[in-house]
Amino acid sequence: MTIHVAIVGAYGSAGTAVADELVDHPDVRLTLIDDGDPGGGLCILRGCMPSKEVLSAGAHRFQARDDHRLEGTPTVDLEAVVETKERHVTNFAEHRRAAVHEWAERDDVDLLRETARFVAPGTLAVGDRRLDPDYVVIATGSSPFVPDLPGIGDVDVATSADVLDATDLPDSGVVMGFGYVGLELVPYLAAAGEMDLTVIEHDARPLDEADPAFGDALLELYREAYDVRVVTEAYEEVVEPLADGGVRLVVQYADGTEEAIEAEQLYAFTGRKPALDGLGLDAAGLEPDQGWVADTMQATDDERVFVVGDANGKEPILHVAKEQGARAAENLLAHDAGDPLVPYDNVHHHVVFSGLGVYPYARVGHSEASAEAAGIDVVSVRRQASDDGVFATKDVPEGLASLVVDATDGTVLGYQGLHYHADVMAKTMQVIVELGLDVREVPDRSYHPTTPEILDGLFREAAAAVRERNR
Ligand SMILES: Cc1cc2nc3c(=O)[nH]c(=O)nc-3n(C[C@H](O)[C@H](O)[C@H](O)COP(=O)(O)OP(=O)(O)OC[C@H]3O[C@@H](n4cnc5c(N)ncnc54)[C@H](O)[C@@H]3O)c2cc1C
Repeated sequence: MTIHVAIVGAYGSAGTAVADELVDHPDVRLTLIDDGDPGGGLCILRGCMPSKEVLSAGAHRFQARDDHRLEGTPTVDLEAVVETKERHVTNFAEHRRAAVHEWAERDDVDLLRETARFVAPGTLAVGDRRLDPDYVVIATGSSPFVPDLPGIGDVDVATSADVLDATDLPDSGVVMGFGYVGLELVPYLAAAGEMDLTVIEHDARPLDEADPAFGDALLELYREAYDVRVVTEAYEEVVEPLADGGVRLVVQYADGTEEAIEAEQLYAFTGRKPALDGLGLDAAGLEPDQGWVADTMQATDDERVFVVGDANGKEPILHVAKEQGARAAENLLAHDAGDPLVPYDNVHHHVVFSGLGVYPYARVGHSEASAEAAGIDVVSVRRQASDDGVFATKDVPEGLASLVVDATDGTVLGYQGLHYHADVMAKTMQVIVELGLDVREVPDRSYHPTTPEILDGLFREAAAAVRERNR
């Protein structure tokens, strides 16, 4: 019997992953739905790719400015940055659409380039059609979240999408939100726009997922190397427009004092929310509250609805969107066959392109804090980038790395790096952590002089500590 699956958000990364898994199945009929104009998904159009593209221009300027052996500081031509980014993004999006359109040429695949909404449980309205598929996959992504701060409606608020398209930047800005989008775009505004920036950080340091030494190092780096003012343990109270067109943001500090910060532009890098408005979840009998999507990716109130990617608000990053999509497709087939469903779980694997990608932060597996919270007996070792001469020779001497290893059997449980090439090393460490290798058996000889020598140092120190503990 044919299983009819409707995927809402078919141009996105999660939706494409679902379709890719099901399209060759002989018993599946697909209806792919997407209202994107032109379509291509967030990662390609306004997320991962365009942000890394603009960051690279800022990185070149930052590195040239910071290198005392070079003379003069290049300026960033924002028109050229945006034009080049648009060219690349347009090309990537065309490829994504072409792949979806190729599927749609098959007899058992339809593509509807319209907005979908539920009109009853399990029933979708798409334009003037009604669909009653066996399964619906919601893969509608996310949109910027802007906090409901008093006065926010009276001022112009720029989000990440505005920054990626900016061919002209003001002289000053005040920034709310210092999660990964803020950590990536703040140094870009400072370097490419040569802006004076003040960032409001609610906690004592950024990088909640990291052990405190990494957040502290990042704070120092941003203040000293990137010339950004970051105020910590500060909360936004109210914002108001200035007569000359700028904004005044009043913040309160943990000690109760207040400060009024004035700037030309307010930026909100305050996270994202699942794009569920207008989807008619009420009519579907679905309530998108905490826990509304199970780890099997099914809506808890309707086992024939699967919710994947940013839309479920669980872990809004690209590889997770894709893996959730693939798992939802497998689970949907299992559900139809009456087989047990498999929950989606993963090993922590995040990269933040902080410091314009010159000083990225990466975490794979456990941090010291998460290992401790899990009650695991670990040895933990740490190294400064300045301990390895290679970082100085490449003029990127800042940062640190750490390794967390099971004290009893030597299994490598986690790596964190805030240093040059930490993003690249995340892959090596993913293999080591996910294969559960014993640190005493991991080769510790990189080509000399290359930046993975920092990993070799960690392996050696951790292996010695494990041997010592087990003598
Ligand atoms: C500035 C920025 C930088 C980022 N950088 C990174 C990074 O470096 N690495 C990383 O891993 N992640 C990054 N991300 C996150 C990543 O982009 C997202 O997690 C990922 O793209 C989400 O994919 P998705 O498939 O869930 O949603 P999307 O790609 O947004 O797909 C949703 C699709 O649904 C369609 N749609 C929505 N509603 C309807 C409807 N009612 N009817 C029909 N169609 C509909 C939309 O048109 C869209 O095509 C970044 C995000 C931002 C904002």
